[in-house]
Amino acid sequence: MEDVKMICGLEIHVQIDTKSKLFCRCPTNYKDVEPNTNICPICTGMPGAKPMPVNKKAVDVALMVAKMLNCEIVLNKDIYFQRKHYDYPDLPNGYQRTSTPIGVNGNFLGIGIEEIHLEEDPGQYNPSLGLVDFNRCGTPLIEIVTKPDIRSPEEARKFLKNLLTLFRYLGYLRGEGTMRVDVNISIEYNGKKGNRVEIKNVNSIKGVYKVLKYELIRQKNIMKRGGEVKRETRAFLESQMITKAMRSKETAEDYRYIPDPDVQPIVIDEDWVKKIEQEMPETPLEKKRRFIEEYKVDEKDAEVLTADLDLAEFFEKVVKLTNDSKLAVVWVKNELVRSLNYHKLDLYECGVKPEHIAELIELIKKKVISEKIAKELVDEIVKNRGEKTPKEIVKEKNLTVIEDESYLIKAVEEAIKNNPSAVEDYLSGKKEALNFLMGQVMRITKGRAEPRKVIQLLKEKLDKK
Ligand SMILES: [Zn+2]
Repeated sequence: MEDVKMICGLEIHVQIDTKSKLFCRCPTNYKDVEPNTNICPICTGMPGAKPMPVNKKAVDVALMVAKMLNCEIVLNKDIYFQRKHYDYPDLPNGYQRTSTPIGVNGNFLGIGIEEIHLEEDPGQYNPSLGLVDFNRCGTPLIEIVTKPDIRSPEEARKFLKNLLTLFRYLGYLRGEGTMRVDVNISIEYNGKKGNRVEIKNVNSIKGVYKVLKYELIRQKNIMKRGGEVKRETRAFLESQMITKAMRSKETAEDYRYIPDPDVQPIVIDEDWVKKIEQEMPETPLEKKRRFIEEYKVDEKDAEVLTADLDLAEFFEKVVKLTNDSKLAVVWVKNELVRSLNYHKLDLYECGVKPEHIAELIELIKKKVISEKIAKELVDEIVKNRGEKTPKEIVKEKNLTVIEDESYLIKAVEEAIKNNPSAVEDYLSGKKEALNFLMGQVMRITKGRAEPRKVIQLLKEKLDKK
């Protein structure tokens, strides 16, 4: 029997969304601007340029992340910025500044958090053109180092997904687009421990998942043949979905860390932490618990709703407007999400507003439209990107529930007449035949009949037979 155990830890870097850089006041916008315009002597490492005191907002965010990941805060102690030396064209100083830990010993989804610290981003180098853009240089990053607690590619994916959701809740971090993950993985094959391999700079959740899948097989195949996995740093080639050993120059272990004498250490005291705690938004878990308690949403629904902040907020607005959390779950979590998935749209870009769904729920409750029509209306609203309200569409397409009983009776009679075998089935005790007949009535009335009324009329007619 083959026994393979994966041991994986992640180092996750995400940009912090501050207005200015970590050690100077240059804007952190580097995407929609000309190369080398948001720069100054400090972030381009000019001789004699001294860094400004560390951007306090970035420390605030690091503290929030540390609290959200249940870390112990490093209190009343100097937190230094160290120089991490390496040579690359995107790094004008010749070193990157990285802080000693701000939070340690955390835990998130059962995965231990080793530490959290701050770093500055390097610039961007284009090796094929030989051009460097320093706009990104000095943008604050947070680095989260997990303990080697991850046991499968799926677990890594789940962890990162939930981490990004947490960042969305927090609101001060840039998303997956700025994420870079260093993946550490080794395996235990039939009880024998293999060497650790590091895969640098994977920039998406999907990438991390693919890297782990690939490395699991690669390392297993080496050990299966009695070989030894080389302890090395590898790169992820996204186009081929494989990893490849990096040139030794880029794997140099010795960064010659020294504390940066130009940067004042920071000291975090209890008052600072208290202030941060007061400013912190609700976590996904807190929101989930509140939904269960306040709105009597069942646990599974609450889980789905709070896994996406946009969805959670949308749902809550619909509840506030309708005072009906039960129907809000049905029409937001089930129907709206179904329609968005079908049309491959995101909630925030689809144009549908909580007011639309609230109006739809009102139409259902007042029995102006049937549920079947309401489902079609959801698609209609999504399709026209919220330009028309449910009421407008109902009026325009004449979708109101048929009040005229004689018309309904005619439809019921037609369904009975056209489906003798279903009628026979029903009369011989097969009750599900009634659903089929109701479907026929719905087809005839184009979904505008009230199902309960149809059932009642069908039974009256059939029981006379
Ligand atoms: Zn600058």
